[in-house]
Amino acid sequence: MTAPEILYMIVPCYNEQEVLGETSAQLKAKYTCLIENKLISPESRIVFVNDGSKDETWNIISKLHEDEPQFFSGINLAHNSGHQNAVLAGLMTVRELCDMAITMDADLQDDINTIDEMVKKYYEGNQVVYGVRSARKTDTFFKKFTAEGFYKFMKLMGADVVYNHADFRLMSKRVLNELADFQEVNLFLRGMIPLIGFQSCNVYYERHERFAGESKYPLKKMMSFAINGITSFSTKPLKFITGLGFIMSILSVCAFIWAFIAKFGGFSELGWSSTMCSIWLIGGLQLFCLGIIGEYVGKIYAEVKHRPRFIVADFLNNDKNQNQ
Ligand code: UDP
Ligand code: MG
Repeated sequence: MTAPEILYMIVPCYNEQEVLGETSAQLKAKYTCLIENKLISPESRIVFVNDGSKDETWNIISKLHEDEPQFFSGINLAHNSGHQNAVLAGLMTVRELCDMAITMDADLQDDINTIDEMVKKYYEGNQVVYGVRSARKTDTFFKKFTAEGFYKFMKLMGADVVYNHADFRLMSKRVLNELADFQEVNLFLRGMIPLIGFQSCNVYYERHERFAGESKYPLKKMMSFAINGITSFSTKPLKFITGLGFIMSILSVCAFIWAFIAKFGGFSELGWSSTMCSIWLIGGLQLFCLGIIGEYVGKIYAEVKHRPRFIVADFLNNDKNQNQ
């Protein structure tokens, strides 16, 4: 077998002081095992990305790096940039240093034991290995319903996402280099990676409950994430407006004819309520459609400005601490 390759784990952290102790201990044990089994090189690292946390997260990460630089690295973002940007910041910062990278949440919901299988699949020639949830036993009914509905809706809208796959995945250096060419500001990684292509496969795991702390994705954030996913990957909502406009035009012709018949038939007194209803209905529909168009205009606005998606304040790696 060829020499084991370098694996970097990217773990985004936003106010995760409660879980970092356990997560780092479990990841370290996993790395030790993988290195002993010659599956990964001893130069592999676990990189915690601090996404502008307000608690002790960055201090804990710095301490981990200080005590065991052979395992832990840290990236400190200048401010909170959101989960997707934090993941990208990690990937783009380490892409020159690794052969493959795995992204994983800090809260131990993704099964660490899946990493072995992911790495093996990488050696079999897969450039992307998607971690897919086989069951959602620990999710509440509401979370399961909304999440699975979201994947189905995305498919219906024409976006190519892997069903029940979140952001637990392995990517090769080659894929990371391709990802670097995607300049979009509205990030939706689970839609972007399948676009890159190359040989890929799924590994299945059971999702656990969050080890400690609270979800950093309240319903509002989840909704805006879903809307971002749909509007970033599909123009079907715009086509839907065109279709709706077409149907409304046909209906209005019918209404017009009916109004004429009513007028000349002598029963035109009819209809205060129907007039009111149609005004409200059409007004509501118009606003709704304007809102959808507005979503896209807002996107174009953000893309045109092309602001940096994240700003790295510090990168702690080995003993050379680089300030950027
Ligand atoms: N996270 C982040 N920045 C944010 C929000 C979340 O880096 O602005 C991280 C968070 O620390 C965690 C991951 O993203 O590692 C997923 O968040 P969470 O577990 O709260 O989401 P859920 O699993 O409930 O969907
Ligand atoms: Mg979570």
